[in-house]
Amino acid sequence: MKIFVMVDMEGISGICRSSQVIPGEAHYEAGRRLLTGDVNACVAGCLAGGASRIVVRDAHGGGYHFVFDELDDRAEYIQGATGRDRMPGIAGFDGLILLGYHAMAGTPKAILEHTMSSKGWQNFWLNGKRSGEFAIDAAIAGDRGVATIMVSGDDKLCREAKRLVGGIVTARVKKGLDCQGGQLLPAARAHKLITESAARAVGLCGQIKPYKVRHPVRMRLELVSRGRVPAGRKGVKVIDGRTYEVTAPSVEEALWSLIGR
Ligand SMILES: [Zn+2]
Repeated sequence: MKIFVMVDMEGISGICRSSQVIPGEAHYEAGRRLLTGDVNACVAGCLAGGASRIVVRDAHGGGYHFVFDELDDRAEYIQGATGRDRMPGIAGFDGLILLGYHAMAGTPKAILEHTMSSKGWQNFWLNGKRSGEFAIDAAIAGDRGVATIMVSGDDKLCREAKRLVGGIVTARVKKGLDCQGGQLLPAARAHKLITESAARAVGLCGQIKPYKVRHPVRMRLELVSRGRVPAGRKGVKVIDGRTYEVTAPSVEEALWSLIGR
């Protein structure tokens, strides 16, 4: 069983404010240790569940947040830029885990909620449905026939995931009380929950269906600021002064077209 793990930072256990997830800020080094702890708990669970190969990608910001020499040596790790491929090599894997994810932009009382960019993106729609990063990444994997089998994060993220993927295993490591605060499980309990959830999820591989969206894929983005719509860029349909839309043959191509990469 081959398992791919995408790791974001906002939904990591013990994290509840932006100073923990932004390099250079006061609590960032502590945040990195928390992230590494959740990754190791997840790797242990995947192995306990029967995984034979685990690839973990650091997918937060520039992708360089692991405390590298503390990582479990039974998995492989992807760090830094990955070009136009968000999940390099995922085709042929048996399942995807989205670890440390967060609820979509605008979700009330969700810890560090946003979609792709908290500064730039106000609202995002995938094929007409308001969506967040969970949907984007589950759909990218779905395009390649890979099911999203587990998520970890706050209660709002877990609810968002369950609405889209029937039977997905959710590890609720915290409860959102505000976008900058929450009620958190202590590390030992969070890690136990992640390990047990990952083991169970790997055991469900083949039973949970990939999250597939209709093609061609339409993405609409409402920006936070005015005057930033890339009018005139190939394939961009302007909706209003802050909103535009793109259409592409796959989820990943639509995403790159949307952000102009
Ligand atoms: Zn992030």
